[in-house]
Amino acid sequence: MCEECDKLWRAYEDSVFEHVRLCSRLKLAMATNAQESACDNLAAEVGVAERKRAAMRAALLEHESTSGHGSPSLVAKPAI
Ligand SMILES: [Zn+2]
Repeated sequence: MCEECDKLWRAYEDSVFEHVRLCSRLKLAMATNAQESACDNLAAEVGVAERKRAAMRAALLEHESTSGHGSPSLVAKPAI
């Protein structure tokens, strides 16, 4: 682990939380029959957050594989 690992991990975690937060807002909006436009907006935000999460994860894995700073924790929870 190094400073870069630390930074990437934090960014990755932030993006995961952001994605989860937006997903639950979208579910809530759909469950409460919110306006279609509101659901569409949220769905678009979820899409953006999803891409960001994937990009953060890729950046983290990239750093870990090129630097040899790999952490087993990421392998242990590939679903997030
Ligand atoms: Zn590192």
